[in-house]
Amino acid sequence: MQHLDYDVAVIGGGAAGVAAAIAAAKTGASTIVVDAGPMLGGELLSGMSIDGALNARGEWVVKGVSDEIYEECRAMDGFIGPLCDYRLISYICCDPEVMKIAIARVLARHNVTVLLYTHATEVVTKDGRVSSVVLQSKNRKTLLSAKYFVDASGDGDVAAMAGAPFEFSDESGDLQPVSLMFRMSGVENEPFLDFVRDNSASLAVGESDYLRGDRSDDDLAQLIHDQGEPTVFFRGNGPFLGGAIQRGDMPPTALIMIMPTSKSRKEVCVNATRVAENIDGTHAIEVSRAVPVLLEQVWQTVSFLKKRCPGFENASFAGVAPRVGIRETRRIMGEDIITGEDCKTGRKRPDVITKGAHHIDIHGDGIKQVRIQIPDGGSYDIGWRTLIPQKLSNVVLAGRCMSSTREANGTTRMMGQCLGTGHAAGTAAAMSIAAGHTDIRQLPLESLQSKLREQGAILEGTH
Ligand SMILES: Cc1cc2nc3c(=O)[nH]c(=O)nc-3n(C[C@H](O)[C@H](O)[C@H](O)COP(=O)(O)OP(=O)(O)OC[C@H]3O[C@@H](n4cnc5c(N)ncnc54)[C@H](O)[C@@H]3O)c2cc1C
Repeated sequence: MQHLDYDVAVIGGGAAGVAAAIAAAKTGASTIVVDAGPMLGGELLSGMSIDGALNARGEWVVKGVSDEIYEECRAMDGFIGPLCDYRLISYICCDPEVMKIAIARVLARHNVTVLLYTHATEVVTKDGRVSSVVLQSKNRKTLLSAKYFVDASGDGDVAAMAGAPFEFSDESGDLQPVSLMFRMSGVENEPFLDFVRDNSASLAVGESDYLRGDRSDDDLAQLIHDQGEPTVFFRGNGPFLGGAIQRGDMPPTALIMIMPTSKSRKEVCVNATRVAENIDGTHAIEVSRAVPVLLEQVWQTVSFLKKRCPGFENASFAGVAPRVGIRETRRIMGEDIITGEDCKTGRKRPDVITKGAHHIDIHGDGIKQVRIQIPDGGSYDIGWRTLIPQKLSNVVLAGRCMSSTREANGTTRMMGQCLGTGHAAGTAAAMSIAAGHTDIRQLPLESLQSKLREQGAILEGTH
């Protein structure tokens, strides 16, 4: 078996893992990031907007290492920048094809070793300390040793294998649906935005009290129009999409969400499909079964948009996301657990290491979707101990698998928060190594916070 040895090993190279690897390397650790897929980026490559990095007021609440990725995208004309949906949030849109190159460039600049096509399948653990992770790639097994591991696998694979407690769903037994994003190019903005402006009853707008103010739906639709970018949420119970579902032109769904991915290709990403059968996203057979259903829904949505949505008549189908999107699997239980109450009251806390601003967003069956705003167009704090898994001394959590209740996970799972928790996890791991700590809990909170501020993270001063 091949043997590798690094200071910090990041397992999973999605938003959280990429941020963690950049942060660990910037903070002085020799760093490797391992991913099962063929390219780093995870859901950052799906074309979806990066949510939760700004609050509804348009204030940035997550910055730091993520800025390096945005800057690299911008340099390649792949950054569309913050836009408002006039419903609940402001978000960031990037070109997912450019994103692939941007991530590779930033990691190379920081000398991060990248290992693709490789699964973490086992852990070697003693007394709550993970000494190595067993990796399986096509031609060999590798024993990867590290002083600290960041679990950025989305599913909490490392922490769960090492014995940290976790939850899967809650007492309801429900799991959010799986979906497949796709893109269409050649979309004409002007007729599309005129249609949006003239059909406010079909849109979800003004669900944030802050964004609503004293504005009518028509006023908000006009603002979407005037922003000049295809950012819209057609609601499942509105005349446009609801009518299509009733006619059988569209499968039952809570939304058709459209966001821009490339100005030069006139391209948008579309979020519309879903299979809501409590699919376990860690179960290959269950996910594989959903794929053909989702692909048919993609084609049905493409056909519907081309037939019924002004601006899409001559648009082309431009491809599906690299993989099925999994919204919900394991939540690893940490030293602290962020709750829905923390998020929906916009709680600020002294042990903040990053923030969240996206509404609680829990998709359900058919046209069901829970959406609960963060009050006052503001943000909530994510505390340091939600990244420390119970029972383990040298594993740090980042991204979707961080410690949260199911309700809180409806907002902490956003890519903005994955970038923010990844940044904190990578920096904390590297600092712990530099200080000779054998347990991540020995790292003084004040030093971590001060380093994160120095690295551009936002810990205070926002709504
Ligand atoms: C349908 C859908 C729509 C969404 N819409 C939005 C949106 O509009 N905006 C937004 O901000 N967020 C959205 N989200 C949420 C968000 O995309 C994800 O929660 C987030 O990207 C998760 O990031 P992550 O880094 O934790 O995990 P991921 O992006 O899932 O990355 C995990 C990586 O780890 C790798 N991996 C997993 N297990 C292993 C292993 N054992 N060994 C090696 N590698 C492994 C995977 O290959 C993957 O690359 C959506 C999610 C879904 C599914």
